[in-house]
Amino acid sequence: GSTYVGIDTLQEQTRLRALRRGYSFNLMVIGRSGLGKSTLVNTLFKSTTVSRRKVGNVDPLPTTTQVRHTSTALTEGGVHLDLTITDTPGFGDHVNNENCWDPIVTYIEKQYERYLEEEQKVDRLLPIPDTRIHCCLYFISPTGHSLSSLDVEVLSRLDKITNVIPVIAKADTLTVEERSAFKERIRADLTDHGINIYPPTSPTTNTTTNTTTTTTNTSSTTTNDHNTTTTTTTSPKTTTTNINDLDSNTKIRERVPFGVVGSCVWHEVHGGRAVLGRRCSWGMVEVENKNHNDFAYLRDMLIRTHMQDLIDSTSERHYENFRRVRLAKTAT
Ligand code: GDP
Ligand code: MG
Repeated sequence: GSTYVGIDTLQEQTRLRALRRGYSFNLMVIGRSGLGKSTLVNTLFKSTTVSRRKVGNVDPLPTTTQVRHTSTALTEGGVHLDLTITDTPGFGDHVNNENCWDPIVTYIEKQYERYLEEEQKVDRLLPIPDTRIHCCLYFISPTGHSLSSLDVEVLSRLDKITNVIPVIAKADTLTVEERSAFKERIRADLTDHGINIYPPTSPTTNTTTNTTTTTTNTSSTTTNDHNTTTTTTTSPKTTTTNINDLDSNTKIRERVPFGVVGSCVWHEVHGGRAVLGRRCSWGMVEVENKNHNDFAYLRDMLIRTHMQDLIDSTSERHYENFRRVRLAKTAT
């Protein structure tokens, strides 16, 4: 079997920038325990760095949501990627899950805060260590019903501060018909609640944002003498979203939320080929087979086509929003 992850495609995504300075990608996984989060991450990155629950072995549940991360360095075709996976054990595991998202929101904002502090220092580290969450994979239980009220509560908070990609966990537990009806209902729920998932329908950055940023900076220079924001260069970003991107985003959105299956077990199939899959008494679901589930679509988007955009839009959209609000607060 192939253990190729695909991070060397970053070369095309970044026009060789990745070769010169390594890359950091920070992925967060959210969903109640047992939904296959750790398995999916290990399947995506062909690693076993994230410890998984063993069959029949249940860890004691933390009483509140914890935020824990694991870092791994991956190198492929000369491209170096520092991958950090942030897990949130204890999320949604209790009878009363009210505010169980607070530690998650706090963690995400804390990373923006750290970045902003570093950016404002005169002797800042370059490049600034990036611990900001670039993508949040949200695991929906394969109930076949609709989004739960907890899902709605959490998603409508997270979509404002980070890139959220919802997935249907353990999609092999639903039939083909159940899966497509479930997807449709989830999409309707997302629309009804005004939840904006990644990739967005409209371009993530535009010139208006840059103008506002510049104005904020000018005003803070005049009102505040010790303010170091003046040292921050707001280079107008020339992000061009071409037709192809929008086109592929539309295709992706038609498949959202991806119904995924994870497995770290290789099985031999016809012709001696080895594939990752889950074998049941009645047959096998192949992880990377697009006819069996959406894992490959998610993998392609996350690693092969949109990783750079996830990183850029975190910086240009979510971090910029945080920064603008924060600086406006300190200016008054
Ligand atoms: P986590 O608590 O969300 O991190 O879940 P784990 O990755 O530890 O998986 C919990 C259990 O679900 C394990 O027994 C896995 O083998 C199983 N599992 C993981 N992914 C899938 C999947 O896609 N389909 C099915 N049916 N089971 C899965
Ligand atoms: Mg886990």
